[in-house]
Amino acid sequence: MHELGIVQSMMEMVEESAVANRIVKVTRVKLVVGQLTLAQPDLLQFAFATLTPGTIFEGAELEVEERPLVLRCCSCGATFAPEYIQYACPTCGERCEVTSGKELYVDFFEGDTEEEEHGNKSGDGAAATSRQ
Ligand SMILES: [Zn+2]
Repeated sequence: MHELGIVQSMMEMVEESAVANRIVKVTRVKLVVGQLTLAQPDLLQFAFATLTPGTIFEGAELEVEERPLVLRCCSCGATFAPEYIQYACPTCGERCEVTSGKELYVDFFEGDTEEEEHGNKSGDGAAATSRQ
């Protein structure tokens, strides 16, 4: 399953960043995936649920934002969102480039730092957020 690999590398990346930010427990991760990655949100959720038990991601919420495929014509500048990739402009027939749809990155993640784990657990508003 394609999504397992995506989630696995995402988790490795986030964990590395979490450790650097002294985050001991990740509570929320937001992933942005373009249409061209062919990653299915429900399969990403399934992969996340399968891979996270016993890790710092256990119990974390995975948010997936899908980005549609958008192409822009290099000649006339027309933008359009076809269902499948095509490189010929529907207006003038010239070559187009992808402007959206190739995304595959972690938008941000949130977690609890070491201090919160050992100190008093207030819960609200004490989460650390890391943007990449
Ligand atoms: Zn065009």
